[in-house]
This record gives sequence, C-alpha cells and structure tokens, in this order.
Amino acid sequence: MKILISGASVAGPVLAYWLRRYGFEPTVVERTPAARHGLGGHAVDLYSAAAEVARRMGCWDTIVAARTQLDSMTVERFGRRPVEVDLSRMYAGISRQHVEILRGELTRILYDATRDSAEYVFGDSIADLHDDGEGVDVRFDSGLRRRFDLVIGADGLHSNVRRLAFGPEEGLQRQLGGYLAVFSMPDVFGVGNHTLAHFSVGKLVGVYGVRQTGQVRAGFLFRGELTYDHRDKDQQKAVLVKEFGDYGWKVPQLLEYLPQAEDFYFDSIAQITLDSWVAGRVALVGDAGYSPGPAVGGGTSLAVVAAYVLAGELAAAGPAGLRNYEEVIRPLVDNSRRLSPKIMGTVIPSNALAVRLMPGAAATLAKLPTSLQRLIWSQNAVGKVFSSTTLPDYSNLLQPDSSQPLP
Ligand SMILES: Cc1cc2nc3c(=O)[nH]c(=O)nc-3n(C[C@H](O)[C@H](O)[C@H](O)COP(=O)(O)OP(=O)(O)OC[C@H]3O[C@@H](n4cnc5c(N)ncnc54)[C@H](O)[C@@H]3O)c2cc1C
Repeated sequence: MKILISGASVAGPVLAYWLRRYGFEPTVVERTPAARHGLGGHAVDLYSAAAEVARRMGCWDTIVAARTQLDSMTVERFGRRPVEVDLSRMYAGISRQHVEILRGELTRILYDATRDSAEYVFGDSIADLHDDGEGVDVRFDSGLRRRFDLVIGADGLHSNVRRLAFGPEEGLQRQLGGYLAVFSMPDVFGVGNHTLAHFSVGKLVGVYGVRQTGQVRAGFLFRGELTYDHRDKDQQKAVLVKEFGDYGWKVPQLLEYLPQAEDFYFDSIAQITLDSWVAGRVALVGDAGYSPGPAVGGGTSLAVVAAYVLAGELAAAGPAGLRNYEEVIRPLVDNSRRLSPKIMGTVIPSNALAVRLMPGAAATLAKLPTSLQRLIWSQNAVGKVFSSTTLPDYSNLLQPDSSQPLP
C-alpha cells in the first residue's frame, strides 16, 4: 500500500519507519521547507513505552546523547525561600526510562532514521483530498496530484488533514483555560544547564538553558480567557506584555527580548476531543487526533506509541487495521486527556496554598527512594500514562528486507 503521511515532526517519521519495516510505501509531506525542518522547538519527553519504541527503531542511544541534560530546577516565589528540585530523580520515579530532548533534535534524529527508506516532500501541503472508498486522490498546494491507498494526518494540534476530513478545529477543541508562550533569548542570568522557575497564583515563568546553542528558552504559562488572532504574532506578544508587564521577578529583563524573538510561540492550552480518529481511508495520529494539550499531557510519548501501533495494526489487518488502532490506543488517549487538566492545575497553581506547598512537595517527593516514588505514582493517573511499558508486539510482521532504502 502507498500511504501518505502529512507532517514530519514526531508521529510522522515514527509511522513512516514502521510502515516501511512492514513493507508499505510511505510518503511524508511536510509544510516546512527542508532547510528549516527540525530546527528549534521546546523540550519534550519520552517516557517508558515511547522509549522502548525508540529502542526498537535503533535510535535510543542517539536520543539519549542529544538529551537536554536539564537535571535540576530552582523554584522561586514572592516572599518565600527558593526550593531546589532534583528533576532527574523525579523523572526516575515517574518512569523507568525517561529522556527530555528538544523537539527539533528528536525530529532530526527520527528523520535521519527514515530519510532513505521513506519518500519525503518538503515545502508542500495537502490542498484537497477525495476518498472514493478504494483510495484517496490528493491535490497538493504545489498543484501536484497523486493517488494513495491511505492518508494519515500527523500534522499536529492545528492539523490540516483533520480540517479537510473531519471538519473545522473550533468544534473539536476543549480549552483547558490556560495559555503558553515560549521564545529564545541570550542567557543573561547565567542559567547554564539549569531550569529556573517562578510560581504565583495563575502564573508560571520558567527559563531553561539550551546547551546546544548557549541560549535559554523563556516560557510563560498563565490562566485566563482571551480572544486573539492566532496568526498575528505582534498581537500575541502584546497579550504577553499585558499579562506579565508588571509581574516583577526577572520578567522585565525577559520581556526585553520579546520584540525581536523570531521563534516566538503562543497558543492556548487546548485538547483535541475527537472520539474517532478514522474517517474512511483517512486517519489521524499524534497531536492531530488527540493532543492532550501542549506541555501538560505527554503528547510526544503518546504520538510515538500511537504511530508504532498504527503501523503495526495496518500490517496485521490492512485498511481494517485503522479501526483496531483506535481501540488499542483509546485507553492511553483517555488517560492522557484526564491527566492533563490535573498537570495544568499543578504547574499553573490556582490558589495561594498550592503556591506555598507545591514546590516543597515536589522536592520532598524527588528525594524519596525511586521504588517508593514509583509506588506512589502507580496509584494515580501519572503512573498509568507515563510508567506504562505495555507495547503490542508486531515483530512477526516485519519484512526481511524492509530496512533497505526505497528503490
Ligand atoms: C511549547 C510547547 C511545549 C511542549 N512541551 C512538551 C513536553 O514538555 N513534553 C511533551 O511530551 N510534549 C510537549 N509538548 C507537546 C509536543 O510538542 C507534541 O505533543 C508533539 O510534538 C506531537 O507530535 P506530532 O508529530 O503529533 O505533532 P507536531 O510535533 O506538532 O508536528 C506536526 C508537524 O506537521 C507539520 N505540519 C503542520 N501543518 C502541515 C501541513 N498543512 N502540511 C504538512 N505538514 C504540516 C508541522 O510543520 C510539524 O512538522 C509541547 C508543545 C509545545 C507547543
């Protein structure tokens, strides 16, 4: 089968890798031009099951070598002493295998693992698709027309394939009541390879070092209800200044770098609430189908595991495998959707008591023996989503010559 994948970030390349291993012919179309592909991006996490997928792909060691190495965090608050949190111990307690990596680095590694075995088309996008039950006719923005057996949207939170096959985004989103802004700037505070965070009611400001560039990323999370134009970066920058202009702490120095920030990212923290990720011969994987919310729900691990499952189910049952894929990943999607509002509630505290107690609780928890931390996490949704190592085994379906380049 010829399978078109829209999006070459995380879910797209993982899906392309496994499809090729099962003997399919994947084509990946990515809107970003080749020269900009894989650049930048925020820090994302791979937890147990996703780490195992990466290991089976042979990229785990490369991913670990590229990890952020942000192992500690200082949490500050107004009028209270700073608290040090050992992040490496905390992650070890949450997940048997965990790595934090910049999304751009992960994308580059996954692309390198698939560039010879899948067809990649950069700087283009699907303009239109028509599913006639036997296949899907696709017209691209470039004007090119091609026919595929299946089309998979791996094109993120604001998915193009979802819009074309499932309808407008507005009706398919659940706003969690928070917003998120990130941009790069020089390391003016000497943060180095460390994370600095400042907590207050309804707001979190974080600064973390990017060892590869010597710069830092400044991140702002806050609660509210806003209306803004999602295409207008200047308007979004103005919103951030309005929210944080009089915050104090180190924020005035951070905001000095906002006007010239080229990689400025701003979005609401929203989930995709579709109940089905399959429409005929078109399906969605990763954030496109079930983003649990950026930065609060482990979307990267979910994307990796789901892409692995989708390829395996297609290998097992052909197009009928699309429905099986839905059923296999549904519990993980449901758990992630339930968890992310709770994570948002923790990282953007809603009341003064949480501001007072949360940093100390996190620091204390991280100091406990790893086995005890795991026992505590296993009692709640964090354990279900991040500690799970369960992966279906499709190894009997692998094709003998399938790691060879495409003809
Ligand atoms: C600021 C921020 C912080 C985050 N922090 C974390 C974290 O700490 N931990 C974590 O696990 N996750 C985090 N996430 C979420 C994580 O980035 C996503 O869950 C993950 O990247 C999902 O992968 P994906 O491949 O499904 O989609 P994406 O990574 O969003 O990739 C979509 C791809 O599709 C491409 N594309 C878009 N439109 C088109 C089109 N029309 N045609 C072709 N291609 C297109 C895009 O260019 C992109 O390459 C964060 C997200 C944000 C925004």
